Amino acid sequence: MKCGLCHTDVEKLSKSHIIPRALHLFGQEKGEHQGLLVMPVDKGKRVERSHTGFHSRIVCADCEASFKAGDDALIELSRTHADAVQLFDELGATEAFQFPNINNGTLHRGVIATLFRANLSDNDFYKQVDLPPRFAEQLRQVLLSPEPSHHSDFDVVLRLTPSLHGSVIKSPRRLRFCDVNTYWLTFPYWTAAIKVDGQKSRLLRQVRIGAYGHPVAALTPELNPSELKALSKAMRGKHEDVLRITAGKFEKINRS
Ligand SMILES: [Zn+2]
Repeated sequence: MKCGLCHTDVEKLSKSHIIPRALHLFGQEKGEHQGLLVMPVDKGKRVERSHTGFHSRIVCADCEASFKAGDDALIELSRTHADAVQLFDELGATEAFQFPNINNGTLHRGVIATLFRANLSDNDFYKQVDLPPRFAEQLRQVLLSPEPSHHSDFDVVLRLTPSLHGSVIKSPRRLRFCDVNTYWLTFPYWTAAIKVDGQKSRLLRQVRIGAYGHPVAALTPELNPSELKALSKAMRGKHEDVLRITAGKFEKINRS
């Protein structure tokens, strides 16, 4: 079998979690691990709780091990999202956060490795991640290279999504954003937009992981129209499902 990353022929491919397993254990209450709410793209599919997430056999053991540092950075960002340095606007409102304990290069690699795995996975949950072959190959080369991945064209911007989103994980989706094609991946408490486009976006470039000494994330009070559309699509027919699973715990989550 051929490894999806290094293309070596191996007897058996390793079991890869597309999103690190530890992230699925972010429960809503201390000491209680309920697993994440998983929201599929398909209207017909039910919202579910997941402790394990999704895995696929896509890469060899060595390549799987090479994802570890990046995955740890993803987990660290979810774990410490509330401890970040707050950045204020001129009126004193919190607009963004900086994460001085997280390394740009490691986090960027973790995010784009997640996109790479989602692209190779044949699980329905990731079906909107379908990179054009040229970009899939470029992404593979970036991940194989020892060069810092945040210097590549795969610009990544972060958005904090506190409260309820900490326990919900949505199917990744493709969105036109800042005039370029981007893929949006959700993690507990934050979302990453990854540029997959030959065009440059100056705005994305200015706030991407790597533009500053440490990662920064926007805390946006409003969703933009394309996100709203995506959210409404994701929620269509799912509300009852979510209520059934959470058994009225929503208010509690929002207050914490
Ligand atoms: Zn490999």
